[in-house]
Amino acid sequence: MPIQKINKLLIGTNNKGKLSEIKSLLPKNIEISSTSEFKLKSPIENGKTFKENSLIKSKFFSKKTGLTCLADDSGLEIDLLDKKPGIYSARWGGSNGDFKKAIKRVYRELHKKDKNWKYKKIRARFVCALSISYLNKKIACVQSKIEGYISNEPIGKNGFGYDPIFIPKGKKKTFGEIKPAKKYKIDHRYFAFKKIKKFL
Ligand code: IMP
Repeated sequence: MPIQKINKLLIGTNNKGKLSEIKSLLPKNIEISSTSEFKLKSPIENGKTFKENSLIKSKFFSKKTGLTCLADDSGLEIDLLDKKPGIYSARWGGSNGDFKKAIKRVYRELHKKDKNWKYKKIRARFVCALSISYLNKKIACVQSKIEGYISNEPIGKNGFGYDPIFIPKGKKKTFGEIKPAKKYKIDHRYFAFKKIKKFL
């Protein structure tokens, strides 16, 4: 089914931070609905990659609603932690999605790996896979990333998730300090959207 014919798109996320960012990136002529309107719980994400998990979500939500669905799967890869938390980024926050807890775990794991990590550049990246599905059919699936470093301490109140501990390459501030409108124009989701836009 060609996506151009579809004027209503379901955004397959129950994460408010992501939903507002995704809304700001979509063409204004598309009517957007969200999973919370349908009171849908998220499926079990048992894929091995960001792309696989994104497709699990877009297919699941599309089948539940009969609408074309755009879903993402994203997370933070930290090189010193062998790319963890990666696809487990949300799960490190526990069942309540407690990002303070997730950030504490990052610092604990870094300390376990290297007691002097605070004096080193800890390379990391945010990755975002986006997919569009209609029922069980994949329409598109893309992936993008933004490189950066882990900050010695959480700084800033903007954004969500790991934003307070991620400093994008070439910048001095964390995503938690950078204004959302500015972050949305340089991050992993923005570049993934650039790739998937031709399917909208
Ligand atoms: P997902 O809902 O399974 O894709 O979970 C992705 C998780 O990765 C989120 O819950 C956040 O913890 C983290 N994450 C993804 N993108 C961002 C971002 O832009 N800023 C901060 N954390 C992010």
